[in-house]
Amino acid sequence: MALLFGEEINPETLERWDKEYFWHPFTQMKVYREEDNLIFERGEGVYLYDIKGNKYIDAISSLWCNVHGHNHPRLNNALLKQVCKVAHTTTLGSSNVPAIVLAKRLVDITPPCLTKVFYSEDGAEANEIALKMAYHYFYNRGEKDRKYFITLSNAYHGDTIGAVSVGGIEIFHEAYKPLLFKTFKLPSPYLFCKEKYGEPNEECKQELLRMLKDILEKYHKEVIGITLESGIQAAAGMLPYPKGFMKGVESLAKEYGVLLIVDEVATGFGRTGTMFYIEQEKVCPDFMTLGKGITGGYLPLAATLTTEEIFEAFLGEFGEAKHFYHGHTYTGNNLACAVAIENLNIFRDENTLTHLRPKIKHLSKRLEEFWNLPWVYDIRQLGFMVGIELRKPNGEPFPYGDRIGFKVAYKARERGVFLRPLGDVMVLMMPLVIKIEEIDYVLDTLKWAIEETLKGSS
Ligand code: PMP
Repeated sequence: MALLFGEEINPETLERWDKEYFWHPFTQMKVYREEDNLIFERGEGVYLYDIKGNKYIDAISSLWCNVHGHNHPRLNNALLKQVCKVAHTTTLGSSNVPAIVLAKRLVDITPPCLTKVFYSEDGAEANEIALKMAYHYFYNRGEKDRKYFITLSNAYHGDTIGAVSVGGIEIFHEAYKPLLFKTFKLPSPYLFCKEKYGEPNEECKQELLRMLKDILEKYHKEVIGITLESGIQAAAGMLPYPKGFMKGVESLAKEYGVLLIVDEVATGFGRTGTMFYIEQEKVCPDFMTLGKGITGGYLPLAATLTTEEIFEAFLGEFGEAKHFYHGHTYTGNNLACAVAIENLNIFRDENTLTHLRPKIKHLSKRLEEFWNLPWVYDIRQLGFMVGIELRKPNGEPFPYGDRIGFKVAYKARERGVFLRPLGDVMVLMMPLVIKIEEIDYVLDTLKWAIEETLKGSS
């Protein structure tokens, strides 16, 4: 029996109401309504419990955002302390204590060129804001002809129209094409390199950078900036860039005077082994967007960080109307910011990133075993982010409608592991606090689930 505000609701009623009233995101509701679905009721560390009392390891960090585990006493406490003061006050023209402190803390832990923080609620909004600010920066400087972004095929930056315009995942974005603004597109680095060079190597990186240079050479006066996910195209199926690709993009952006927008929504807050992936390539962009792990997976909060130069282009007398006309009701929400500060405190006090290093190594070693499975076509890893691509043993993809990835994920549930694949790519994105023996359990279960689902298939 689930207890909600003192009213007991039995699991069958919840299942019925879920299917009757609740339209789920990124979910084919016809199929969903025909299936048994997980309805979670509580969490504890890396474990989630459903309304029937079953226990699962959350191997996808609740869509890549949980960091220190569920129901964390320190995060709970930070939230409770703040809610007893005030839950929300507007930041449009006024301020609040946690939002100020968090802005300072974010500036302290990000590269020195990033000095200003603009809040929003989700990753898509953080990117939308970066796009608008980048355009508006040139507009305020009188450069009104700039209207194009250079983007990557297979990119994913969220689901609002601007973020979709700079995205490139056909299956998600195809229907909206008439509504989107035009961009220049480079190929997806990983897919291009794999096809042409067998792997994302130095030669391939140079070729991609030459393609970018060609576009910039011709069009740089009309280009606003270059958008890219940091280090890896995550939603496209965990596709890492060749090492040094981002550094090369940064140099070309500087050389041609266009802005660099780096999306750290998925990679930020430790997922790649450092707090932010850009640290590994020593890149300092004009914009960096953050979301997901910023509150440790507790509350919707996102941020767009930018430079002094961008900020200053929006300064002027009130009557000049140069300010950034953008904001949301919950921008800089007090509760979310208070929890985000405590999230950073836990990183510091528990040395989360130091403890993560041996786990990343262990994960790499154990992933080697998956090559023995005939359906494993590719294994990709960046830090603690993993994608295992499944195909037929002859290398052909499974038909889209067969939902092999989902079938494997459903199988894993039978042994208490919660997964959500990207197509037929099995994603592992575990909370950073997970223990080595729990990682082993997730991997053993995934291997078993792949074998059980696919044995006898060809
Ligand atoms: N950018 C990246 C790189 C992402 O992976 C995601 C979400 N998976 C987003 C943006 C969108 O974030 P949100 O779902 O919070 O809007």
